[in-house]
Amino acid sequence: NAFGTVKSRKVIQQLEDAGHEAVFVGGSIRDYLLGKNASDIDIATSASPDEVKSVFPHTIDVGIAHGTVLVMMDHEPIEVTTYRTESTYTDHRRPDEVRFVKSLKEDLQRRDFTINALALTLEGELVDPFGGREDLEKRMIRSVGNASDRFEEDALRMVRAVRFSSVLGFEIEESTLKAINGNAESIRHVSVERIKVEMDKLWMGTEPQKALSYIVESNLSKHLPKFPEDVQLLSACAPFTSALQGWSALLLSGHFTAIEIANAYKLSNREKDFLSAVQKAFKNRQAGRFTTEHYYRFDLEVLIATEKLWQAIHPSLLGITEEEIYEKHKELPIKSRDDLKVDGRDLMAWTGQRGGRWLGEWMDKIEEAVLYRKCPNDMEKIKEWFHNEYERQE
Ligand code: ATP
Ligand code: MG
Repeated sequence: NAFGTVKSRKVIQQLEDAGHEAVFVGGSIRDYLLGKNASDIDIATSASPDEVKSVFPHTIDVGIAHGTVLVMMDHEPIEVTTYRTESTYTDHRRPDEVRFVKSLKEDLQRRDFTINALALTLEGELVDPFGGREDLEKRMIRSVGNASDRFEEDALRMVRAVRFSSVLGFEIEESTLKAINGNAESIRHVSVERIKVEMDKLWMGTEPQKALSYIVESNLSKHLPKFPEDVQLLSACAPFTSALQGWSALLLSGHFTAIEIANAYKLSNREKDFLSAVQKAFKNRQAGRFTTEHYYRFDLEVLIATEKLWQAIHPSLLGITEEEIYEKHKELPIKSRDDLKVDGRDLMAWTGQRGGRWLGEWMDKIEEAVLYRKCPNDMEKIKEWFHNEYERQE
């Protein structure tokens, strides 16, 4: 069966009909040859962005400066990028100039690794000028051309190399790894936003341990923000079932706080909160097994990530299994205050009093009574419990 979706094939066909060259390129070809579900499909073409726009009635400019046009094919956006080269990188991160070219080989040459420098024609012919297929078979990550030059051009490629080692479980070819070692320091010039995108994929890979040992071996660990130089504990947590677990594992070094890590990688507020919660839960866990209070106050995912960290530090002790965490959480009489069968208005009605600080304080007491099963979560039962307690105190 043919590569690509019907709509993406139609895009290539129409470019060809207009007299241009067009092919599938990049990571989707790699994944296809590996028998994996292809990520997003990219198309490259000899047509200039203006020519692409004239072939299709509906297009959206997304990155014209870089030659990328979004073609709306039967309401589906398909990315089409003009063959291009990048030249003279003076800052280790962005090309000073993007030049559109007519040759596919030149376009493939600017790509980072041989396994990513593959193209496939509509007829199913593989275009592979740099031995990408062979490297796929050898399970190797190898720079296209001189590795050191390529990392000097764009230092992010070093992090991409290790992220592919995690995602694909591949080795990094010797001279490529050596070149990472020689250029590791220049990762400091790359924006953390770009690094974060790759790290998110690294955490979610099948072999993060592999990537982590490459990061240390190549000295990247010395130059990545808030990264431990000893990744043994970090590795002990792997694999991860979410990128957040990976970010949390950076706490294990003990040298950086959640806030420091979150700020260093410009994590989102949601991610920052997650890390802070893990940090807090971890302190509790160091003092003993989770209690009802913890199962109630922390998110399940936070508890699971926390337990992963704890077990990495205490490999010989009996930890809490994920099933147990789920079970304990399920057994809670209420999962949050919203689950209470009464609210502030009920309390005001029962007492004939207006709102005030007393209301919040009594809601806290009711919440605690229900959580610790001193009172069932039932309107009448709570009312009864409340009246008893209220009269005792007033
Ligand atoms: P994924 O499946 O994770 O998306 P991918 O290979 O598609 O992997 P992308 O970041 O989507 O990775 O990039 C698409 C393609 O663009 C790559 O396959 C590669 O050919 C090229 N590429 C991306 N980033 C770089 C870079 N920094 N330097 C050189 N080529 C790059
Ligand atoms: Mg991609």
